Formats: sequence, C-alpha cells, structure tokens
Amino acid sequence: MNRSSGPVTEILWFRRDLRLTDNPALRAALAAPGPAILVYIDAPQDEGDWPQGAASRWWLHHSLQALAREIGRLGGELFYLRGSAPLCLARLVRQYGARRVHAARRYEPASRAQVAAVAEAVAALGAALELHAGNYQHAPETIVKDDGTPYRVYTPWWRRWRSAGLSGSVQPPPARIPPPPAPPEHAAELSDLKLLPRIPWDREFPAHHRPGEAGALDRLETFVAKRLAGYARNRDQPAVDGTSGLSAHLHFGEITPRQAVAALLETAGPARANDPLEAAEPWLKELAWREFSCQVLFHFPDLPHRPIDRRFEAFPWQEATPKLLEAWQQGRTGIPLVDAGMRQLWRSGTLHNRVRMVVASFLTKNLLLPWQLGQRWFWDTLVDADLASNAQNWQWVAGCGLDAAPYYRIFNPLRQAQRFDPDGEYIRRWVPELKDGDSNYPEPMVDLAATRERALAQYQAIRTAPVA
Ligand code: FAD
Repeated sequence: MNRSSGPVTEILWFRRDLRLTDNPALRAALAAPGPAILVYIDAPQDEGDWPQGAASRWWLHHSLQALAREIGRLGGELFYLRGSAPLCLARLVRQYGARRVHAARRYEPASRAQVAAVAEAVAALGAALELHAGNYQHAPETIVKDDGTPYRVYTPWWRRWRSAGLSGSVQPPPARIPPPPAPPEHAAELSDLKLLPRIPWDREFPAHHRPGEAGALDRLETFVAKRLAGYARNRDQPAVDGTSGLSAHLHFGEITPRQAVAALLETAGPARANDPLEAAEPWLKELAWREFSCQVLFHFPDLPHRPIDRRFEAFPWQEATPKLLEAWQQGRTGIPLVDAGMRQLWRSGTLHNRVRMVVASFLTKNLLLPWQLGQRWFWDTLVDADLASNAQNWQWVAGCGLDAAPYYRIFNPLRQAQRFDPDGEYIRRWVPELKDGDSNYPEPMVDLAATRERALAQYQAIRTAPVA
C-alpha cells in the first residue's frame, strides 16, 4: 500500500455504524484534507453487564471483514484495536497528534458512559470527540410529549414519531479513502479479537446470514421488491420468508433506517403521492418498534435488569432448576412450536418474531421462570441481540414493561401453531423427529391448561398489589 505523508487530524472510531454509505461520522472524518485513521475497538469491558454474546460476535467478525475489504477497495485501511476505548483513542490521538475523533451515537447506558470517558481522555490531549447521528430516524430524546416527559405507550409515541417526518435522504459512500501514513502502534489482527466461537456451533449460520453492508443492501432490495406487498399477510407465518431479515444489519449499522425509507419511497408509485409511505405502514410500524425500544432504554436505563412495573419485583417466580431451563433452551419441552423455535434459534442464530413471543410466553407464564433468564439466553444466541429491543420485548411478553401485553394474554402454543403454521411446515423443519414419528420426542413437560391457570392467578395477585 502507498502510505500518505500528510498530517493526521481526524480519527474515525467505528461503533455500530459498520458501513460506508450514509455514514455521517465517516464523511466528517474524510472531509479534512489529510488522511484519517479508521479504527474498530473491541472493548467488551466497556459494555457493563452486557458484553456482546457469542452469536453477535460471530456476526461482528464477518461484518468487520466485509467492511475492511470495502475500505481496502477504496484505498484505505481499517485497523483493529483491543482494550478500553478511552485508552485506545487517547493513544491514537497521542501517536498521530490528531485533533478530532468522530463517532456515531449509541444510547445504551454503558455506551453513554463510554463516550463520556472518551471525551474526557481525548480532551486532556487537546482533541475533541465529535458525535454524529446514531442509527435511527429520530434520536430518542427528540420524540417526547409536549411537556418533555417520555411516552409510556407505543401508539401516541408512534403518531408523534411518524408526524415528525421520515427522512429518505441518503449520503453516498466515499469515492476514495486516502491510505493512512502508518498503522497504529497497538494494532491487532481481526483474528486477535477472537470473535468466532471455539466450539463450532455456528456451522449453519452462513447458510442463513450474510453480514456486512452488501448483504444488508441485498436484503433490503429483495424485501421491497418481493415481500413488502405481502408483509401484513405473511409476517406472522414462521414457515414463510415474509419479513425483511434486516434486524442484525440494522443493529450493527450496516444499513440505516434512512436507506430503508429511501427504498420505500423509490417503489411508491405517483398514485400515492399524498402519503407515499402509507402502503408501507405495517412494516414502518415494526421499524418504529425498534426506535420505541431505544427510547424506553434511554429513559429507563435499568430496563434490562428491573421490571418497569416495580410490583413485579415481588413476583413469585419458580426456581430455575437446570432441568426446566435446559429443556427450554435446548428445545426439548415436548411442545412442538416451542421446540421448533428454540432449535431454530440455536442452529441459525435467529428466530421468527411470532415464535419469539410464543417461546417467551411459555418461559415466563407456563414455566413461570423470570424473564431475565430468557433475555440472557437470547442475548447469547441471537445474531440480532440488541439490548433495548431484547429487554423491551421480554418485559412486554412478561407483562411487566411499558405498554406491556395484558396479563391475561398467555399464548397457547398449540393454538398458535394451528393458526400460524397450519400445515406444520415450520415445526417439521426444525423438529424432524415429529415427521419421522420418532418415539424419542419428549412428552409435554407441563400441562398447558393447568400452568395457564397458575399464571393467571399469580398475575392477578400482582396486579392488585399496591404500586411501590
Ligand atoms: P421485520 O418484520 O422485517 O421488521 C423490520 C425491523 O423492525 C426489524 O429488522 C427490527 O429492526 C424492527 N422490529 C421488528 N419488530 C420489532 C420489535 N417487536 N421490537 C423491536 N424492533 C422490531 N429484535 C432485535 O432486533 N433484537 C433483539 O434482541 C430482539 N429480541 C426480541 C425478544 C423477544 C422476546 C421478542 C418477542 C422480540 C424481539 N425482537 C428483537 C424483535 C423482533 O422479533 C425482531 O426484530 C424481528 O424478528 C426481526 O426480523 P426482521 O428483521 O425480519 O423483522
């Protein structure tokens, strides 16, 4: 590589914005006349109680590989660092005499603490941290009630989010990235980050996912061209490829919600000129749930640990014996839809939304085990594990979150299967022994009707308890 000789004033710190297109932080870093240093820092120690889980790290490895390849193609280089971000960035600022560090905003409590520490560390060296828009249509602090307090209910929040206007304005990727003058003194190889699992339980992942920006753009294009029109009809059927499959791409910032809106606007015909996004609303509402979850975590930072409805801190959960928990984790509950879901999750690193709700309801209501245990398992096994969306949805299903499912809503997995997998295609795909009439398939581990009654009684009791 031809190295540049000009002074480095800008550092670009990639976080959850692993893309070149529509990346304001990258654009700002490249706007300076000299070369910029582009880095990714692997800093699990900065993530508090939630360092990335194993499936997310698998995704991250491949996403970084794809990003580095694209940066290289444009003439630049992506460097990897290991260690706490304030330390790594201070070293870089010192080595290059840089003036600015650019990064995209993140909203998890630990990330906010991390950037505060980075800002302080680089300021001590005379440099500034410049934060750029995160991967959302609207920053979470901007969609609030007239009196400035956060919304607690999705629908009025959605109306405000929608009426605040949705942007489809997308910045193009850079045409060229100048080569850096010299590598950082402490640069590591991607393999040093040890993101891939030691036990090869990820064998089937590549058949289901293509991490990186190109994979994200492909997914978006296919979804808008082939699946969007039938989304409202197909989205609840786990056997059908009816949804976008974009969640991990969005989580890692390989694509922006602005790009999604741009793609929707492109396909909207002139007949819909009054509101070109109207036909896409069922899907936009889901995209908005991601942003709603982000704002819930922003305003209620203990969301991943504590029930928003504090009465649930006294909920009489059952003891989580390994037998109960492992049967659920391994898909051996004897309830076909639950088992199909948990096996899909383990083998593919993802799980259909309808089945996420069913397995979460089974854990918290039929087994009466704490939602935090399910949240942790999802955190480690989902490639799209996202602190806000995961916690918000688990609390929603458990009935203790903001705008949560009503307490009497206990999914019956047998009825859910009849309704959403009527031919049993999804179940047979993931639980083949049912197809083969294999007698090793376990008997149901609980009586669904009896455990439903038990949960209803407990939930009713907690509802009438005074709010702490
Ligand atoms: P689509 O149907 O195409 O929806 C488009 C996008 O909207 C998704 O990519 C996602 O970013 C967002 N979205 C859709 N539904 C939701 C929702 N209910 N909450 C928040 N965002 C949503 N999603 C995650 O991204 N990370 C998680 O860790 C996560 N944990 C979950 C845990 C439980 C118990 C449940 C019930 C849901 C969870 N979800 C999570 C939400 C949802 O299941 C996934 O986002 C969805 O299945 C992803 O598939 P898709 O990309 O094809 O979605």
